[in-house]
Amino acid sequence: MIPLPSGPVPYQADAVIIGGGVNGLAVAYELSKRGVKDIVVLEKAYLGSGSTGRCGGGIRQQWTTEANIRLAQESVTAYENLASELGLQTFFRQGGYLMVTDNEAHLEGLRKAAALQNRCHVPTEYLQPQECLKIAPNLDITNIKGATFCPKDGTAYPFSVVWGYARACQRRGVKIFIRTELNDVKLEGDRVTGVSTSRGDIATPLLINCAGPWARTLAAKVGVELPNRQERHEIMVSESCKPFLDPMVISISNGIYFSQSMRGEIVGGIGDPDEPSWERPDQFDTRSQLRFAVRFAKALIGYYPPARAMRMMRQWAGMYDVTPDHRPILGGVEGLDGYQHICGFSGHGFMLAPMAAARMAQMITSGEPDEIIASLSLARFANGDVEADAFVVG
Ligand SMILES: Cc1cc2nc3c(=O)[nH]c(=O)nc-3n(C[C@H](O)[C@H](O)[C@H](O)COP(=O)(O)OP(=O)(O)OC[C@H]3O[C@@H](n4cnc5c(N)ncnc54)[C@H](O)[C@@H]3O)c2cc1C
Repeated sequence: MIPLPSGPVPYQADAVIIGGGVNGLAVAYELSKRGVKDIVVLEKAYLGSGSTGRCGGGIRQQWTTEANIRLAQESVTAYENLASELGLQTFFRQGGYLMVTDNEAHLEGLRKAAALQNRCHVPTEYLQPQECLKIAPNLDITNIKGATFCPKDGTAYPFSVVWGYARACQRRGVKIFIRTELNDVKLEGDRVTGVSTSRGDIATPLLINCAGPWARTLAAKVGVELPNRQERHEIMVSESCKPFLDPMVISISNGIYFSQSMRGEIVGGIGDPDEPSWERPDQFDTRSQLRFAVRFAKALIGYYPPARAMRMMRQWAGMYDVTPDHRPILGGVEGLDGYQHICGFSGHGFMLAPMAAARMAQMITSGEPDEIIASLSLARFANGDVEADAFVVG
């Protein structure tokens, strides 16, 4: 990678993007592809230091709302070509996602979701417990009541995707400043005119908020109140083992997810209903807890007994940026010019990023409305036009 600039920021830019995670870098790349010239990305720490570098790298199309399915489906197509497009190995592997449940009451939901996904041309199949063994041998199906499987789902390595986008941005002249914090936003009337950063001021007509779990704090600087709350989630990686697990296994009963990386490690996490929301981003607690290790190990062994012999190598935590309907917030704000959001992804911003960014860049540069972005606007909460996705796991 070309060394990142370390001097002062430029006096002006056509667009300033806050956040050096997957969404900030992807939208910078997509804008530059569409001819926007002077683009600056500001990252207060290092690239991938937010949720992106802490995530499980899972990419699935098995959702219960059409907007999520369509964005994920387009993103899978983008991920299939991303390594060659960006010129960097992304370790994208389509081992499928096996979504299981131990709960009879979930079966109808799984069937309905598979039918909706099929209508959107996603090749999801509904499986009986015994059929899961063809996909994940050694899975303990004693409690499993049913499952769905989509062979086109998969995983990628988050840091490679971040570095791939960053390098592709640099080749196109995008200026990426790390260790550079946005402090304030300048407004004239109802229009963004610039930003103040820890390395100086930049005049700009366009500010894009890709600040992940810090998006709410940033939005407040332009007087916008986001309904997002920030939730802590832990995840772990085991020692490397011989390849034995193709799909990501995910349980909609207890929220565990686990997959095997190309290096043989099991990577997985489990949601914790007792995790509180965090009001103060400067106090996000990303330390590891024994409670997670115990809960995860028990749940993993429940589905995959041979894991009993494996050693956990490392665990860490990150923040989800969660909206009331667990779907992202994309687009601008009525009455405020020059300000856009790409945030609120809960546990699925890595998988949706390529197409959320491409659609946003297309809308911004063409001025044409986008049907999916319109359905994911901030205004939906005020209008009561909220459709929650039921398959939020982790
Ligand atoms: C444990 C865990 C597991 C997950 N697993 C998955 C998964 O399997 N699949 C999936 O799709 N998603 C997953 N996610 C969710 C996913 O990680 C996020 O939705 C996604 O990475 C969000 O990317 P982003 O670029 O929008 O935000 P981030 O990656 O958080 O980037 C935002 C960046 O903005 C920077 N920033 C904030 N404020 C400022 C400021 N004032 N000035 C300058 N810079 C600033 C931050 O430092 C940060 O680097 C997981 C998340 C966690 C925590």
